[in-house]
Amino acid sequence: MSVYLSNERLELSYQTFFAHFPNHYRAFSMSESTVANPLPAITKRLYIETVGCQMNVLDSEMVVAALRKSGYGITKHAAEADAILFNTCSVREHAEEKAYNNLFHLKQLKLANPEKIIGVMGCMAQKDQKAIFDRVPFVDLVVGPGQLHRIPELIANAQAGEKQQLAVSLSRREGNVEDIKRSHETFDPLRDPEMRPTPFQAYLRIQIGCDKFCTYCIVPMTRGPEQGRAPNQIIDEARVLADQGCKEIVLLGQTVNSYRHVQGDKTTRLSDLLRSLHEIDGIERIKFVTNYPKDMTRELLETVRDLPKCSPYLHVPAQSGSDNVLKRMKRGYTTADYYSMMDRINEIIPHAAVSSDFIVGFCGETEEEFQMTIDLVRRCRFKNSFIFQYSVRPGTKGAEIYEDDILEEVKHRRNQELLEVQNKICLEENMKFLGRTVPILVEGPSKWAMRKQQTGDLRQMTGRTHCDRIVVWEGNIRQAGQILPVHIDDVFAFTLFGTVETKEIVPDLVQMRL
Ligand code: SAH
Ligand code: SF4
Repeated sequence: MSVYLSNERLELSYQTFFAHFPNHYRAFSMSESTVANPLPAITKRLYIETVGCQMNVLDSEMVVAALRKSGYGITKHAAEADAILFNTCSVREHAEEKAYNNLFHLKQLKLANPEKIIGVMGCMAQKDQKAIFDRVPFVDLVVGPGQLHRIPELIANAQAGEKQQLAVSLSRREGNVEDIKRSHETFDPLRDPEMRPTPFQAYLRIQIGCDKFCTYCIVPMTRGPEQGRAPNQIIDEARVLADQGCKEIVLLGQTVNSYRHVQGDKTTRLSDLLRSLHEIDGIERIKFVTNYPKDMTRELLETVRDLPKCSPYLHVPAQSGSDNVLKRMKRGYTTADYYSMMDRINEIIPHAAVSSDFIVGFCGETEEEFQMTIDLVRRCRFKNSFIFQYSVRPGTKGAEIYEDDILEEVKHRRNQELLEVQNKICLEENMKFLGRTVPILVEGPSKWAMRKQQTGDLRQMTGRTHCDRIVVWEGNIRQAGQILPVHIDDVFAFTLFGTVETKEIVPDLVQMRL
């Protein structure tokens, strides 16, 4: 799943939300963390661009929060920034090429103002390391995802004249497992609601890294070994989030449902965590992404069914509908395993929305194998699917042992074909919502409202159903953060359109007489 978090979205969301909810702002400002360490006045500007997965969005939030403590505020203009950070993704070549192109474009700015600090963080920083300085010599810092806590110090060093600051984690063969793990431990400091696009939604990392080593994937190299964070840390962080007014938490992990934490003779799994998190007052929705098919156990599904705050939404990438391709990908399951997981989901949570990721054009994928993916999509009827054309990643097993032999135009055509099948299913599944009234967690102004730069209280608003469908309606900025009943009037493949249902309010006096 990929996202792009622009500075515009960040800044607009903060400005809009805090301008309209001054009381929330005060409540947050008085939260323990902020009282203990009052934030300094904003004296410097940070421009940060984020691409990639939700982990990157969360990492950016943490870095912004850390830099806020050093007097940085966000700007949406790179030209006026004192520091520019690119949070990068390495999952596909295209994302890296784009990052390098964007970096080259900063040359003018750097020449005009050599004091401006330019940094590359995230997976591309971990993967390319010093090579980034060779390709783009005016970059001042390169910081891998496991070393982000050092960014304020590294920026200060660069400002003091120490150029080319490098902070990366150990590679998977560079020492003993414990040292490697420690070098990848991301920092998840006390949260600051001001640093989130919406203060009532937050990502919460429960698992770092990945040990699955799918043959196409670079993540185990850039994010390091799989580690489950300690349950008490996770629960404490969720409590802080709830105290700050957060209503929805999304638990993050590369294979989040494989989460395990062992302390002495006590093993905590995702279902245990969900039960503890469910107890926290104020948290009203809990989601978890991304899931690994083999670990979608009956026990986990029953936990989701039995806990009303858990969203009936499961993102479980299948990647392919062909057993041969899955074997070459080293995914560790067969299509029969995937189908029996779908049967389990449909039996235990019949109203669940399931979504998936697919890679088309993986090494050696025949037309017949591709058609099996189409069949799988038709049979599983996903809420939505993220479809990617295979991109060979140096450093992966796939790059070493297989030939990237599917022509680009074939990859493109398969992408389109699968997309068409999926889009038709999206629309058909969304049709089931027509005429229904569903509870929506209101996120804020819609993308359209932001593009149109709508101002004032009345705006087009957007939010999500419990099963993660996007809904828009003509609303009011004051609805942000509430869970409201929305009547669905029209549906498209990607969006539902609705009207907020206003209940007739019976005056107290009348109620008392009744
Ligand atoms: N941990 C998640 C996936 C993280 S990467 C999981 O196991 O499902 C997000 C998605 O990017 C993957 O699901 C896959 O569909 C896609 N992807 C990963 N490597 C890729 C590559 N080399 N080429 C194309 N797509 C890729
Ligand atoms: Fe990559 Fe596979 Fe790990 Fe997902 S499970 S992050 S696809 S190696």
